[in-house]
Amino acid sequence: MIEQDVAAARAVYKSGRTRPTEWRKTQLRAMQRMLVEHRDDFAAALAEDLGKHPTESWLTELGFLTAEIAHTLKHLGGWVEARETSVPVALQPAQARVLLEPLGVVLVIAPWNYPIQLLLAPAIGALAAGNTVVAKPSELAPASSAALARWVPDYLPEAVTIVEGGIPETTTLLEQKFDHICYTGNGRVGRIVMAAAARHLTPVTLELGGKSPVFVDDSVDLRIAAKRIAWGKFMNAGQTCVAPDYVLGSRDVLDRLAVELPRAIRDLYGSDPQRSPEYGRMINAGAFDRVTGLLAADRAAGAAVVAGGRSDAADRYIAPTVVRATAESALMQEEIFGPVLPLVQVDSAAAAVLFINERDKPLSLYVFSHNHHVRQMFTHQTSSGALAFGVPVAHMLVPGLPFGGVGESGMGGYHAKYSIQAFSHRKAVLDKPLAPDTMAVIYPPFNAVKNQLIKRVVVPAGRVRHR
Ligand code: NAD
Repeated sequence: MIEQDVAAARAVYKSGRTRPTEWRKTQLRAMQRMLVEHRDDFAAALAEDLGKHPTESWLTELGFLTAEIAHTLKHLGGWVEARETSVPVALQPAQARVLLEPLGVVLVIAPWNYPIQLLLAPAIGALAAGNTVVAKPSELAPASSAALARWVPDYLPEAVTIVEGGIPETTTLLEQKFDHICYTGNGRVGRIVMAAAARHLTPVTLELGGKSPVFVDDSVDLRIAAKRIAWGKFMNAGQTCVAPDYVLGSRDVLDRLAVELPRAIRDLYGSDPQRSPEYGRMINAGAFDRVTGLLAADRAAGAAVVAGGRSDAADRYIAPTVVRATAESALMQEEIFGPVLPLVQVDSAAAAVLFINERDKPLSLYVFSHNHHVRQMFTHQTSSGALAFGVPVAHMLVPGLPFGGVGESGMGGYHAKYSIQAFSHRKAVLDKPLAPDTMAVIYPPFNAVKNQLIKRVVVPAGRVRHR
């Protein structure tokens, strides 16, 4: 069945139908219609899987996608236009251009935390670039997976094939030959995907996770900083790849945040977040146990909880929690991926940079500082998928910015025009008329005149500065 699905996707690609820009736009418009006409069905699935509020589902998944489609439809013509490039004098007359051509069939493997967005956003780029798509939703978000399997075939019958399932199905998929694989999830599976891709020499985009740090100093309004950090952290109950994972700051800044963060949490979710329709749930019992286990270990070791701390297994609920921690805390040994925010003391911005550079390169880094020197230091002395000043997570909403990680947080980026680049081949095209035959100078047999011309004009050495 999976083999047939992939063969069908390949047959559509090979038919040549996907090449014209009009076909691509038709698919994007169909996806847009699906998202609008079944907005309530998708929102209900997201509520069932993750307790997402419909407005948050629109902001971070469905509307996010329709905005990406609208932006792509508007700019696609310009993005896929062939780019002329100049030809060296020695080769003239001739024309050279870079042509973007589709790759073929793209496999998208999506995770459970933004189960609709992270499956369809890569698909938008792949379709816009003229490919067909085989997409596997996460089995850990079963309602969202079922909604995609129910509606996508109606709207995108030949463009996107949904393959539902878990590890066995993904393993079978990975045995097939694809022309690109876009995987979003954890680094352990990322390695499995990359190894499988290597067997077919298939290029990969790996969108992975990690611990995204926040640095805060006392040059900023800590009340607003706390509000923004709490918003980015506790959205989707902390199960966001670009969520702030932990906060670094001086003792004084952390003391003040220990007051402001609980206040911000109350502003966002009221005094009992378990009763707030805006506050999400852990995806499953395993995720609940993992995060409460980390918190319990640190509490047992004496970590002070300054907000939240309560949980309810039957409801997969973990309160928005803030805890004083150290580099040795259990919470600091792995990506938290839940609503617990450790505050870790550092002596200075330079110490924070050192702390970050001693660890894996994160997907995002957030800095709250008005100090020019501090901002420069974070910009030029750290490496991360993204760097944002003054607000976490929101860089995802800027269509002109690529989205992707570096090192352990992944490879390759996408979104909007970067998706076109990710899912296209840049074909070099040279067109040289046969007459006049200006190539004579580089044909053997060589002589002294040709030798001089080749050295001076055709491929000059350039000016070398001898020491
Ligand atoms: P997940 O468990 O849903 O896994 C993702 C996909 O991998 C699923 O479709 C699943 O079926 C497949 N899979 C799981 N085990 C497999 C195996 N052994 N072989 C083949 N396929 C397998 O999601 P997850 O990994 O728990 O997602 C959370 C992680 O993803 C976090 O680390 C998070 O930071 C990261 N993430 C990154 C981004 C990003 O865009 N960079 C976005 C969201 C999540």
